[in-house]
Amino acid sequence: MSDWLTFYPWQTIAAQSWLGQRERFAHAWLIHGLPGTGKTHFARAAAASLLCEQPKQGLACGQCQACQWVRGGNHPDLRLLRPDALALEEDGAGNPDAEATDAAARKNPSREIRVEQLRQLQHWFNTATHRGGWRVAVLYPAQALNLISANALLKVLEEPPAHTVFLLVADAPDRLLPTLLSRCRRLPLPAPSGVQARDWLAQQGVEHADQWLHAWGGSPLLALRASQAMEAPYPDWLARWLDGVLQAGRQADLSLADELEKLPPAQWIEYWQRLFIDLQLSGFGQGARYYPSLQGRIDTLAAQAGPASVAEAIKWLGQQKALGNHPLNAKLYIHHALDRLHQACRRAS
Ligand SMILES: [Zn+2]
Repeated sequence: MSDWLTFYPWQTIAAQSWLGQRERFAHAWLIHGLPGTGKTHFARAAAASLLCEQPKQGLACGQCQACQWVRGGNHPDLRLLRPDALALEEDGAGNPDAEATDAAARKNPSREIRVEQLRQLQHWFNTATHRGGWRVAVLYPAQALNLISANALLKVLEEPPAHTVFLLVADAPDRLLPTLLSRCRRLPLPAPSGVQARDWLAQQGVEHADQWLHAWGGSPLLALRASQAMEAPYPDWLARWLDGVLQAGRQADLSLADELEKLPPAQWIEYWQRLFIDLQLSGFGQGARYYPSLQGRIDTLAAQAGPASVAEAIKWLGQQKALGNHPLNAKLYIHHALDRLHQACRRAS
């Protein structure tokens, strides 16, 4: 969804009841919830609603001058505080933030929210707002604050400027500075129900919406992005690996190594983790959680491998994930993984 003014369907009720109390609105909110459920989108749509001159049931009208400014990215009373790298990603190179336009920032954009971004707000606080309305700063993701910028934000929140609302967005609030947390009211966001997620995904034109949702843990936004980038809800190599293990003998098929070597290890580890969880569920007589469309092959392989061997492989994959992503020799590492997982699936035969 490219229009930041409209909430996702699973957010509308929460938004209306929250924005309905705007007369006694807190000056800093921490918006948190599960990854991939549209928290940043919620915060930006909320900012638009707070700035709208004729809100309808508390939500942005989409028509007034303020809404048009928000849509054009030039409302004087709205600031987005996000890492430069994210600003370039979201707005494209043709329409970056004013703060991200210098050559150095473009070449090597920061992944943190810099203290300068907070210092630049001081002038903004001293400028009158449009028609005496709100001033809204949306800060995301809050975990991109470093210690210095978090402390600078804390200083601002200790003596909040009048008519100003800060909306902070975080996946994991517990990773933020406790002193910062204590200055914010919390707003936990609802995740979409299975039906809401599926209906929305289908409305975006995604076929087999259920399968994509399964593969991305029920997150409609991650599922949508994946469906735009991939042919099937699992990577092609994973299905080929599954076929290879079902057909091969004692020796692991290493023909996938060249392809996988080019991917970040975290990526292939995660796909394998999901597949092995499905193998484990199959061993318990349950349906696949992630790849129901591979169910037949999963059942055959689970019966062949046996539960102990599958559990061991899950443990090994978990350890690999925890190790991080920097093997000294990518080729050796992927050969080792292919061999290790192949043996896990052959053990009982
Ligand atoms: Zn409006």
